[in-house]
Amino acid sequence: MLRFLSAKQIFNQTKFLEQDTVLVVEFDKVKEITTKNDVSIDKIEFIDGIITPGFVNTHCHTELSHLKGKINTHIGLIEFAKNIVNKRNDLSLNEIETHTQAADELMFKNGIVAVGDICNTNHSLPVKKNSKIYYHNFIELIGLNPKHAEHNFNEGLKLYNLFLSNGQKATLAPHAPYSTSLQLIKLIEKQNALNISTIHNQESIEETYFFEGEKSKVNDLYDYLNIPITFFSPPKTSSLKNYLPYFNSKKNILVHNTFTEITDVEFTNDFVFWCFCPNANLYIENCLPNYKLFQNKINSICIGTDSLASNFSLDICSEINTILNHSTVFTLEQLLQAATYNGAVALQIDDNFGSIKGNITSFNVLEFKNNNLKLVSKLK
Ligand SMILES: [Zn+2]
Repeated sequence: MLRFLSAKQIFNQTKFLEQDTVLVVEFDKVKEITTKNDVSIDKIEFIDGIITPGFVNTHCHTELSHLKGKINTHIGLIEFAKNIVNKRNDLSLNEIETHTQAADELMFKNGIVAVGDICNTNHSLPVKKNSKIYYHNFIELIGLNPKHAEHNFNEGLKLYNLFLSNGQKATLAPHAPYSTSLQLIKLIEKQNALNISTIHNQESIEETYFFEGEKSKVNDLYDYLNIPITFFSPPKTSSLKNYLPYFNSKKNILVHNTFTEITDVEFTNDFVFWCFCPNANLYIENCLPNYKLFQNKINSICIGTDSLASNFSLDICSEINTILNHSTVFTLEQLLQAATYNGAVALQIDDNFGSIKGNITSFNVLEFKNNNLKLVSKLK
């Protein structure tokens, strides 16, 4: 049976469609997009809200969900990292799985249909195997000592193969410029060639100091971890300019970008996506990126929630609201594009996600009042 849906507004993937747009739906699939003129008025169902594609959360760490509320706000990235190292194994595997399951359900309830998820462990695997959400797993590798690159890479490959053998989509990804050697990045990128990669980029000013050869708290972190880094000589350039030439994946999702500068943005190519996680930035550093630098990058910005270790929820509407309330650079339309279509392109899933082609049960119904976006329901 055909259904004819109109709404207050319908967002396709890059823009709001004309007011008189009607979605013709058959077996929950959008068959055609037409106008009210072509449909008899008594057949039209009116949806009291904004219809959008389901959200794509381009950056999360579901395996850290048990750290919700365990780390203080505004302590800065280096202290935050120490806390993660100390607390991530505080709970039993069973408890970690329970929290991961809850995070997965929370994201689904919040209208998220696909996630780019960072994995340092196999802890999230059982949840993902039964999830209604699509996951792209970024198997994250860490190691600044170039001598250990081969070993670290081989360890990462084991986890990568475990995800693949469990029917999961996965690629390798370096953690951050200050924690991954160029040798390790080269090995990762050789493996990734035609695929996707991601990296935490310029999340703290300490990263910039570290690469410029100035006094940096990154050195304190290595002292704290008892890892001597005498082998590291600062390249005296920005971290991004140092590592990006070695990235050759088809899509590179740079996450955070809080201390990215205009020369960094100009240095990048079309393969780069800029993922913003504003609530996590406020939680950890109490600082946001200079969004103005990205105003010409409308087709390559996307949105992430980061983990519950650095966020109060996993909610794309809340991330969009934070950006809208702190900056006038992006319109609601552009941020919806970032949260749907751009994220889908970045994760190479735009055939199935990120637009209003496809199954309407993955669509959201939103309300936008007083500069505040809210999920009202999922479309049924
Ligand atoms: Zn992260």
